[in-house]
Amino acid sequence: MQATIFSKIVNGDLPCYKVYEDDEVLAFLDISQLTKGHTIVIPKIATLSMLEASDAINDKVFSVATKLAKKIVNTFQASGCNILTNAHEAAGQEVMHFHVHIIPRYASESLVISIHKSNKEKSCDLQAIQNELQQ
Ligand code: AMP
Repeated sequence: MQATIFSKIVNGDLPCYKVYEDDEVLAFLDISQLTKGHTIVIPKIATLSMLEASDAINDKVFSVATKLAKKIVNTFQASGCNILTNAHEAAGQEVMHFHVHIIPRYASESLVISIHKSNKEKSCDLQAIQNELQQ
């Protein structure tokens, strides 16, 4: 895999505002700060996305993300948070090193995260979709 901004951060070649580190995982403030406390959690090992990561890596990253989300929400008295990961370009992934966003949400701020509700269920065969997933 090509070196990404995030692997350079892991290697210490680029700076970051670190908020958590252990042997396998690093978390740092997202430079864009969509909201105050917006944090990125990554595995230190270079993996493209959640879809390629091993179960062990996913368990570790999401476990750290959950703990940090609680800390961030408590520290900044946020009203809630979004935890999301973009897997592959089609889903909006820009940095090709698996990462989870923790985006604290504040009742006073109207940030739109673009997963919109739709009326698609009316034109979709939910039964067929369920059947395919259960095979
Ligand atoms: P994604 O679209 O899920 O790949 O998001 C990549 C995220 O990485 C964006 O929210 C960027 O703001 C963030 N980002 C890019 N470069 C840096 C950096 N040097 N330090 C911290 N966050 C970064």
